[in-house]
Amino acid sequence: MRFRVICLTIFSLATTVTAAQALEICGDMRQGELFYIRGNPMENTNIFNNLDKKSYFSDKQGITLVALHRNAPKEVKMVVYAENGSKTSYELEIEPAQWDIQRIKGVQPHHVAPSKTHAAEIAREQKDVNMALAGAKGGGKPAGVADSYSFWREGFILPVEGRISGHFGNQRIFNGVPKSPHSGTDIAAPEGTPVKASAAGKVVLSGKDYFYTGNMVIIDHGYGLQTIYAHLKDATVVAGDDVRQGDIIGHVGKTGRATGPHLHWGASLNNVRFRPHSLLDLADKKCRNITGKYMGE
Ligand SMILES: [Zn+2]
Repeated sequence: MRFRVICLTIFSLATTVTAAQALEICGDMRQGELFYIRGNPMENTNIFNNLDKKSYFSDKQGITLVALHRNAPKEVKMVVYAENGSKTSYELEIEPAQWDIQRIKGVQPHHVAPSKTHAAEIAREQKDVNMALAGAKGGGKPAGVADSYSFWREGFILPVEGRISGHFGNQRIFNGVPKSPHSGTDIAAPEGTPVKASAAGKVVLSGKDYFYTGNMVIIDHGYGLQTIYAHLKDATVVAGDDVRQGDIIGHVGKTGRATGPHLHWGASLNNVRFRPHSLLDLADKKCRNITGKYMGE
């Protein structure tokens, strides 16, 4: 009897350690990229770095999506809290990305240096966007109706075909004035080209006439993941609509701060913007095992 108890204890300890360390990381560990962790279902994953302290939650299958900030530092510490209460820490090495400088000419002067008369307009845009992304705020709890289902599991498609006219992360200089880095990918396409939903989800914002983004749609795909579609000629969906992958949500335009017709396609996880193209190969991302340091319960 006694022997059996000891055996069980050892077995149980060993299982805990193994379970905590049996983690697979899939995708590139590079600034501005999305990767995912595959393991046992976890309560949450905390990512500590110099820029943000975020928590990411796994879905029922034990997949946790994580976004790396454009300026993520070289070393990032990740702590995984497993369902059984055990804690494991991992040191992640982040590859730096090369960001281009993009010089854009012909921007209307009031869009380069907005005057005070646009302050209210800009504030409305920021408030609406923050509210739309709010489901992902404060710790990455799953947002909206997407709570119970990971819409992103079906994969993502390009919302529109076309030449990439502006990469994610570019440092942008408008009419010679340096501006904030580009938060999405620009895809050039003729005005009026239909724009498709990259994946199923719920429309959380369909806003009109924003100062920077013009007409814009944001779709929530669950677990704090959203895609953003800006400068639309028009939007054909309203907030609250459920969309399926490939549904037409609007048309390419040049509303807001745009010099020609294009789609600004953005992606946000837990309010961290990342390169939207890293959604396209979710199923094909290369996985490898990582070992962590068991930190107890
Ligand atoms: Zn853009």
